[in-house]
Amino acid sequence: MEPIVQYKDVHKSFGQTEVLKGIDLDIKPSEKVALIGPSGSGKTTIIRMLMTLEEPTAGIIEVNGENLWQMEKKGEWVTADENHLRSIRGDIGMVFQHFNLFPHMTILENCMLAPVLVKNESKSEVKATAVEMLEKVGLGDKIELYPAQLSGGQKQRVAMARALMMRPKVMLFDEVTSALDPELVGEVLEVIRDLAKEGEMAMILVTHEMDFALDIADRVVFLNEGVIEEQGAPSEILMNPESERLQDFLGRFT
Ligand code: ADP
Repeated sequence: MEPIVQYKDVHKSFGQTEVLKGIDLDIKPSEKVALIGPSGSGKTTIIRMLMTLEEPTAGIIEVNGENLWQMEKKGEWVTADENHLRSIRGDIGMVFQHFNLFPHMTILENCMLAPVLVKNESKSEVKATAVEMLEKVGLGDKIELYPAQLSGGQKQRVAMARALMMRPKVMLFDEVTSALDPELVGEVLEVIRDLAKEGEMAMILVTHEMDFALDIADRVVFLNEGVIEEQGAPSEILMNPESERLQDFLGRFT
């Protein structure tokens, strides 16, 4: 099966500092990949590049076989234009650590905003989808509320519904529970677990929740200082780590 996402020898530097040092990573359609590793190892940068929020310094990233940053025009490869980026980005949804909801809009309006702006769908169609997605994350009875009236966990579930609006093929989750009070973490993980069970979307999750990774991921990728140090089935990686660095890292969670 062709991968939905491919990183081919991807490097990324900020100024003089190389934070990713040659990443090769294939993700199959519907595969769930947990990305773990110490703070500063480059996890967020990997997924921000897929969301086109950062450009690689070298190497290639493909989504559905299409190069993210280059496009073919009249037989030549040229830098991708905004239309090309937007069309690829349409396949990708992202949920951040902080929810970034618009405070002056209801949660229904928050979910409707982007699709109304970019899709050729009527407002009533978009609204029906928004209600469906908010129901999916367990907020069907809250659609007229404003973000300030919700708990952190509920806000994060709105952020997920909003990302689902575009029916992405790949969903990126960047430490989505780390800004939440501990008692709110469970409800957010539960929604992700349900989405994972539905099965269709590929997911890349940056997480420090090792039990969760063990439970839902098909593969765990351990990143250390900008390189993939070890990867494999969750039980192998989390229960029988080979490299000393991974053993050290996992030791911090016990
Ligand atoms: P992680 O998600 O594993 O904590 P990040 O991908 O956020 O790691 O960051 C990797 C390294 O890149 C860190 O040292 C961070 O300070 C640096 N970095 C990330 N984004 C930027 C940026 N926009 N400018 C400069 N340095 C950055």
